[in-house]
Amino acid sequence: MPCKHDAISTNLATVHEQIATAAQRAGRPTTDVQLLAVSKKQLPAAIEAAWQAGQRAFGENYLDEAEDKIAALHHLTPIEWHFIGRLQSNKTRAVAEQFAWVHTVDRLKIARRLSDQRPDTLPPLNVCLQVNISDETSKGGVLPDELPDLAQQVAQLPRLRLRGLMALPALADSEAQQRAPLRQLREQLQALQQTRLALDTLSMGTSHDLEAAVMEGATLVRIGTAVFGARVG
Ligand SMILES: *Cc1c(COP(=O)(O)O)cnc(C)c1O
Repeated sequence: MPCKHDAISTNLATVHEQIATAAQRAGRPTTDVQLLAVSKKQLPAAIEAAWQAGQRAFGENYLDEAEDKIAALHHLTPIEWHFIGRLQSNKTRAVAEQFAWVHTVDRLKIARRLSDQRPDTLPPLNVCLQVNISDETSKGGVLPDELPDLAQQVAQLPRLRLRGLMALPALADSEAQQRAPLRQLREQLQALQQTRLALDTLSMGTSHDLEAAVMEGATLVRIGTAVFGARVG
């Protein structure tokens, strides 16, 4: 459907403009903020349309669905797949073999498996630690208290490259409410950077809180519906 594909290209341009406006407001270079297009529950043709419009990094939440799409789109190169869903230990091998990034590592057992299972033929797997910043036990993520130890241990794993932190705070209406947990995540990152960990990534911000995230220092925003429209699955 060419109609929908034109819309994706227009949406991408709009999101890039929103990022640029927010970065300007924050006094940050626009190039500091990378756009991850979240393609869960979107068809391969929609991903291909985004790729044709210049988008290269895509985020997927569900492994079975992602594997089908990765196979269907293997003719698109270069392309970078990011895993951003809950990760069970029996699914780590497929993720270690097929993704460039994992944003949702929240325990050492998962990290060890990903490192052990990362193929030698590929560069180290980029990982972010997911932090449970608004303390919602249902959402996954390491608690802030346990983060420093986990970060030190994950940083030692040979086939992982610890890049930074990720969070998915509860939806909030006002910009002030949105910014509070995002600011906490940035402060957690800064605290880790002071312990000699070379971290460069703050993965935060969705279609709902993109501007707040850029204001609080996001280096990678994860945008789904604002790029692709409503999810189809
Ligand atoms: C779905 C999802 C997003 C994107 O959400 P939108 O509201 O569609 O922009 C970002 N991050 C994670 C972890 C998600 O699961």
